[in-house]
Amino acid sequence: MYIYGEPDFNTMVIYHELGHVNDWESDMDLNIVEREELLCEVYKRMNSATAFTRQDKYHESFVDGTKEGLYNAAKEYWADICAEYFWNPKFCQNSYPEDFKLVDKFVKKNDPTYNVFSDRGIFDPRTGKIREGIEINDVIEEKLKRKR
Ligand SMILES: [Zn+2]
Repeated sequence: MYIYGEPDFNTMVIYHELGHVNDWESDMDLNIVEREELLCEVYKRMNSATAFTRQDKYHESFVDGTKEGLYNAAKEYWADICAEYFWNPKFCQNSYPEDFKLVDKFVKKNDPTYNVFSDRGIFDPRTGKIREGIEINDVIEEKLKRKR
């Protein structure tokens, strides 16, 4: 897959889209009660005085006085806070702690031990490169051992 643009921006876009595929409409692991809970919590956050906002006022641009506009704004709000959570977790936690907690809660529904601050796996998703200090040959050897 090739996405045109700056690497940092591309990663941010991917995290935003990841939010969309895990929202109350798309996440197949949520039951109806959890879907409603997520939607209500996102509405509440979006309308709070401490709501997350981007420089380009992206989610706000969907608010047009209609119910549909408000709903679409909520979908974009959720995708944006997911992107902040994964892309810049320290900033998200410090600047938007309520949004951080909301995303963290839903991420942990499927993976209770997930820690956005820990470095799991070979690749650093923020750079797309192999993490510092990881010897690729050791990782390959370890993976092959587990398959045997
Ligand atoms: Zn979006």
